[in-house]
Amino acid sequence: MHSSPSAVSPEPDTGAARTGPPEVPEVDAAAAVALTQDLVRLRTVNATGATAVEQSAAELVSRLFTAFGWPHEVTEVAPGRPNVVAVVEGGGGPGRTLMFEGHTDVVTEGDPDTWSVDPYGAHIRDGRLWGRGAADMKSGVAAMIYGARAVQQAGPFPGRIVVGVLCDEEGLMLGAKAFAASPTAAGVDGVIVCEPEGHEVCTSARGGIRLRLSLHGVMAHGAMPQEGRNPLVAAARIIAALAGAEEWAVRRYGTHPHAGTVTVTPTVLHAGDPDQLNVIPAHGLLGIDVRTVPGTDHAELTEHIRQAAEAAAAGAGVTVGLTVVDDRPAIETAADHPVVRALVAGHRQVHGSAPPFGAVPGTTDGTILTRDAGLATVVYGPGGKWIAHQKDEYVEVREIGEYARVYAAAARHFLTGGGTHPVGGDAA
Ligand SMILES: [Zn+2]
Repeated sequence: MHSSPSAVSPEPDTGAARTGPPEVPEVDAAAAVALTQDLVRLRTVNATGATAVEQSAAELVSRLFTAFGWPHEVTEVAPGRPNVVAVVEGGGGPGRTLMFEGHTDVVTEGDPDTWSVDPYGAHIRDGRLWGRGAADMKSGVAAMIYGARAVQQAGPFPGRIVVGVLCDEEGLMLGAKAFAASPTAAGVDGVIVCEPEGHEVCTSARGGIRLRLSLHGVMAHGAMPQEGRNPLVAAARIIAALAGAEEWAVRRYGTHPHAGTVTVTPTVLHAGDPDQLNVIPAHGLLGIDVRTVPGTDHAELTEHIRQAAEAAAAGAGVTVGLTVVDDRPAIETAADHPVVRALVAGHRQVHGSAPPFGAVPGTTDGTILTRDAGLATVVYGPGGKWIAHQKDEYVEVREIGEYARVYAAAARHFLTGGGTHPVGGDAA
């Protein structure tokens, strides 16, 4: 099942083929589809306060790695929240270290009655595999495992492949944070994050800042508003001011070709007692979701928003306290980094054309691996970008094998080719 047009030729070659791309290793696509189904049938929902979320999936993956003879570590990041990390040595001498990364937790299915299929049935119908996690990202996990397996079965190769099945991507990314701090991470030269991106090679990902504004006013009778300081009026002024802050950020940080522009979005507003409609409350809370593009100065933008909110609230006599709840940078890996070049070459080899480039609209484990361990990350995996977290989630069955083949081809390029490129490199 080798479809590479340049690597397979019945004609005596002139020597060019010897320096051409290696063949795509034979991939067991049926096994990758079956593994996707087995994983989707495990309800690994990452809900608030949930324990042992990924335990069943980690056990399944660990058993498979044992069957493959892959040395691996199962590390509990939190009770019942294991990372499973295999290191597959190529046996072909020293070389680079490529990592494939995925997560096995999923978001809730929501109201199952809104689904037209069993969210955990993993049924195949109309060429699609249906269920929560089918796209985000149990198919990606299965494809990367069988892609790595194919490379190993094709014979010795230089360097090694790290297969990281991590926990808690849909939560606080505890798994990625723990892996980034591990000795294994220090040796990784490039990471392919197998999240669903609809055939795009995502070399950039938007960053995020979550801000909580506490609004402090003065309680008063609704009939005598002049006696109070109303946090709701302040909130209205702040929300209007946020549009101006967003415009400022768009002018200052520009439009990224794939990641777009900075957005500043109010998402939460709490003030007052629902049963006390005649009382001006003393306090309020306004939540803001900021998304950033590569090149954004998070500290500067946060300070700009703080000043804009304070000025707007001051008009209502209300003071503001700002808390940064979360701060994840926007990241960008150079298009000529070896891991990106290898992935593009692998895609081209399997599909016969170059893939489009794109940006991850949110953050992935890749963001953490870049931020905390300085790893070069690129995101590319089976499934549509927009189907994640929706009802009737699915992945095209044929994509699972296709992605496994691209992963295998990319691994061969990264580990055996690209001799002119330095190992590692910068992801800035
Ligand atoms: Zn995901």
